[in-house]
Amino acid sequence: MAASLRKAGIRVTKQRIALMQVLAEADDHPDAFELHERARAVEPSVSLATVYRTLSTLEEGGVVHRHSFEGGGARFETTHEEHHDHILDIDSGAVIEFQSDKIEELQEAIARELGYEVVHHRLELYCRKIP
Ligand SMILES: [Zn+2]
Repeated sequence: MAASLRKAGIRVTKQRIALMQVLAEADDHPDAFELHERARAVEPSVSLATVYRTLSTLEEGGVVHRHSFEGGGARFETTHEEHHDHILDIDSGAVIEFQSDKIEELQEAIARELGYEVVHHRLELYCRKIP
């Protein structure tokens, strides 16, 4: 945790360590409020302001990804090694990760046909569970 903070050029404090810890454990793409709740369970002195500030700095440092999914506030996850895209369950709000070589290749091919190379992309599928 401390190493991730230093990598992002952030001074290591116990509040920030607590936030990094809950971020690393989270697999549900929590928002700032949820992260605050969880971080407070680890370190009661964590304020919401610290959560917001630290998230911004971690994002700038490339340690955390901010997602602006439709119909809600920003949600966060630590930067994964592997690229992945997201399915959003529009009923439950659940975020499901997936990875498809087929989609990746198709995107590269489309960009190339248009004279571009893909530098970065985000793909979000807004879905409803099939009953
Ligand atoms: Zn994700």
